[in-house]
This record gives sequence, C-alpha cells and structure tokens, in this order.
Amino acid sequence: MRQAYVGRFAPSPTGPLHAGSLVAALASWLDARAHGGTWLVRMEDTDTPRCVPGAGEHILAQLAAAGLVPDAPVWWQSSRNAAYAQALQQLTNAGLAYPCACSRSDIERALLAAGTPHTPGTDTVYPGTCRAGLQGRVGRATRLRVQGTVDWVDRWLGQQQQDVAQAVGDMVLKRADGLWAYQLAVVVDDAAQGVSDVVRGEDLADQTPRQILLQQALGQPRPRYLHTPLVRDSSGQKLSKQSGAPALPVERMTDALHEAAAVLGLPPVPSSHPAAEALALWVTIWAARWQKS
Ligand code: GLU
Repeated sequence: MRQAYVGRFAPSPTGPLHAGSLVAALASWLDARAHGGTWLVRMEDTDTPRCVPGAGEHILAQLAAAGLVPDAPVWWQSSRNAAYAQALQQLTNAGLAYPCACSRSDIERALLAAGTPHTPGTDTVYPGTCRAGLQGRVGRATRLRVQGTVDWVDRWLGQQQQDVAQAVGDMVLKRADGLWAYQLAVVVDDAAQGVSDVVRGEDLADQTPRQILLQQALGQPRPRYLHTPLVRDSSGQKLSKQSGAPALPVERMTDALHEAAAVLGLPPVPSSHPAAEALALWVTIWAARWQKS
C-alpha cells in the first residue's frame, strides 16, 4: 500500500513570496488536495544571515490570503538543530561523512592544479582533498562521501539522471560557519514529517539526486518528485528574490493565484469568483491530470 500522501511547501524566509514561489506553493497544495492528502508548510530558516525578520510570517499571511492554509502547525528549521546533529552523527559513525579543512580558495587552487578549474556560475565540484583525512589540518565543514549516478522519474519532467560525483562531488552537510546545509536539513525534515511527495520549482530539480543519495545514506524512503515550470521575467531571467522579483501584495493574492494557475496550465476562473471557488475547480482538474500518479 502506498504511504499516506503528505506534501509540503518549504520556503526560505529570506523575503516575501513572489510570483515564482507562489506557483510552487499552489502546485504543492493542489497536489495534496487532489490526493486527499495533508499539506504542510515548513520554514527553511537555517541560513540565518540570509533570513529576513518577519518574512516567515509575511509568507504565511500571503499564503492565507490566497486560500492556502497548512493542515498542521508550521515547522521552523531553526528549532531542529538536535535532529540535524543526530543525522550527521549517524553518517559520521557509518563512515559516510567526514570533516573537511578546505576553504573556498583551497578548493579553487586544487581544481586549477588538477586542470579542472571551476567555471563561475556552476556548482563547484569538490576535488576530494580531505576524503582520506585532514593531514594535520583543522576541520571546518563536514561533507558526505558521494558516489555514483542517480536515476529518478520526475512526475512533470520525466526520466532524469545525474552523475552526482561529477556534478558536485562530496557535498557539504554542515558548513564551515557552523550552519546546517540546505541538503541535510531538507532531507532530515522531509523524512521526519513523512513527506511522500515533494512538489517544488524546477530550479531545485538538480538538487534532487543529491537529496536522494543523502536519503539512501540515512536509510530513508525516497519521496516522489514533481518540479513545476519556472516563472521568467521579460528578459527570460528566472524570477527569484536574488534577482529582485517583486513581492506579491497580500491584497492582490487572488489575482496572483490566477497568474500562478496559468503557469501550471490551469484555466482562468472569472476573477469575480472567490479564491476558494477557483481552487476547488483547479483541484478537480489537477486530480484528473495526475490520476495515475
Ligand atoms: N527552501 C528552498 C527554497 O526556498 C526550497 C526547498 C525545497 O522545496 O526543497 O528554495
């Protein structure tokens, strides 16, 4: 029997929702409703220097104004340190995680010396300097031993494959500044919350194989994945907080919801109708579209 459907929207409270993040929120909500499941919201506030005070509450108000209300109290990753520490310990005890002494410039130098310099704008591939031990240096970060290629089927994008060792190498689980890496926190919490289905923006699709490897290392089940199309600005750039995407005003959330629905290929509902009616119609359409998955 398939595990009970649990979905989640997991924003980083580094700013309010923009048009792109609303698409992911709406899709994950619709998918949970269409499967008769539970929909959770988790605030991914591990990267404290990037978090903006009040942004989490603002996001929740924006979601509520769009009719998207979580079925259980919101989890805040900043209160989950003990769970992340335990997972890291488990990986270290199993020999799957190791301390790394390398600074960013050490890594760039090692890549240059190996004839594979880092290309700006791409992931830095860790050359494995500390894999065999620290050689008297002082550990700063903790990394996962990564090996192999991951195949997975994305419900929207179809069959996917990534050679994780080649794409990123041994990935960081705990950063040199003492903060938990996104990968560790997201994998630990998805399992702890019994998440069966991850529905999120396509910009995170290439993180999926990394998360699958980490799930395997921790002995956790693999959720199903669906990555939604990105919203682009007029110059074709993906909307993001970093690129200055405008916040969605709370009083405009019904309009914003219709724009998000259009990105997902859902038909317009006259805007005189309340958000709840539009949502109910879209759930029916979504359920028919994804009947078999
Ligand atoms: N917190 C991540 C972000 O806002 C999303 C994590 C996820 O959905 O897995 O980009």
